[in-house]
Amino acid sequence: MKKISILGSTGSIGTQALEVIAQFPEKFEVSALGAGRNIELLSEQIEKFHPRIVAVENEEFAEKLKAITPPGQTEIVYGEQGYTEIATIPEAGMVISSMVGSSGLKPTFAAISAGKTVGLANKESLVVAGQILIEEAKKSGSRILPIDSEHSAIFQALNGSDPNEVSKLIITASGGPFRETPADQLENVTVESALNHPTWKMGNKITIDSSTLINKGFEVIEARWLFDIQVESISVWIHPQSIVHSMVEFIDGSMLSQLSIPDMKIPIAYALSYPERLPLKKAEANPLDYSLLSFEEVDYKKFRGLGLAFDAIKEGGTMPAVLNAANEIAVFEFLNKKINYTDIIKIVEKVMELHKRKDIFSIEDSLIADKWARSEAKSLIN
Ligand code: MG
Repeated sequence: MKKISILGSTGSIGTQALEVIAQFPEKFEVSALGAGRNIELLSEQIEKFHPRIVAVENEEFAEKLKAITPPGQTEIVYGEQGYTEIATIPEAGMVISSMVGSSGLKPTFAAISAGKTVGLANKESLVVAGQILIEEAKKSGSRILPIDSEHSAIFQALNGSDPNEVSKLIITASGGPFRETPADQLENVTVESALNHPTWKMGNKITIDSSTLINKGFEVIEARWLFDIQVESISVWIHPQSIVHSMVEFIDGSMLSQLSIPDMKIPIAYALSYPERLPLKKAEANPLDYSLLSFEEVDYKKFRGLGLAFDAIKEGGTMPAVLNAANEIAVFEFLNKKINYTDIIKIVEKVMELHKRKDIFSIEDSLIADKWARSEAKSLIN
């Protein structure tokens, strides 16, 4: 029986992870859940999965949760300390890290330090402090398993290959809802149209990040750290159908990939049960679903955010943290309709220009840069 703790249990990845877990009660048990403010859903999850402990964002939400949860065996904690407890509870062997944004960094670091197997969906952790997390995992013996579909595909295609035999990682991108929109029309993009992703149903923040392709940039940085590969050996290809989830090119010219219809339960289940595969409920594969697989080059002029991510990881140090933090603020303000769509990447670019890069030696160093970038982004917006 694998005992699982989920940080971000009420989000898109968290709820799908619980759906997979519910299908295999003989294999998995939920030990702990961490959520933000969606206490109604968390309360339902407590009733269904009986975790020993849950965490919410703050004391107010902890009190509200207590009021709607039948008194039982579930302890309720809150705040950063609460999330850290969820990430490190002794009975859980595996922690799913699926909080949104860089707020997931500290709990993810705590899980890694505690030597847990971490199913990583919170890519921002690796963007902000990849080097530190990977070094910590080496020290503690923690294993990081990717839940991002692209990285799960690469992980499956690599299948333990000798790194000297790998020549390139090719990360695929659907191109998002504006793949065919002329650059000069992006100015008028509304929140609603940016949230309308053609192939994946996801949370709001990642959907906006996918539309600007900055999400793909985060995934490049994520791949750099997860697979210990230089960024020069990572390419991005547009693949509108989201069937080929990424590829590995080997030194003999062979390319291996993982294909499936777009369904996050596949990478979630693979991480949960690795190295086994789970018999997920699925329809029989149909050639018509795979009849058109096309690939295009990225338009780096139009999708400037992706180029900025390459710049940030090449500069290294605090720069990726700054990229991420400025983007989080800008996306939040776009969703609040305070700024235009094209301002998102302009703000990220400007904050990166203003930043004086430093080396990082701890997650605190990254968080200082994160805080600085947030306040710069906010003052640019005001
Ligand atoms: Mg992805």
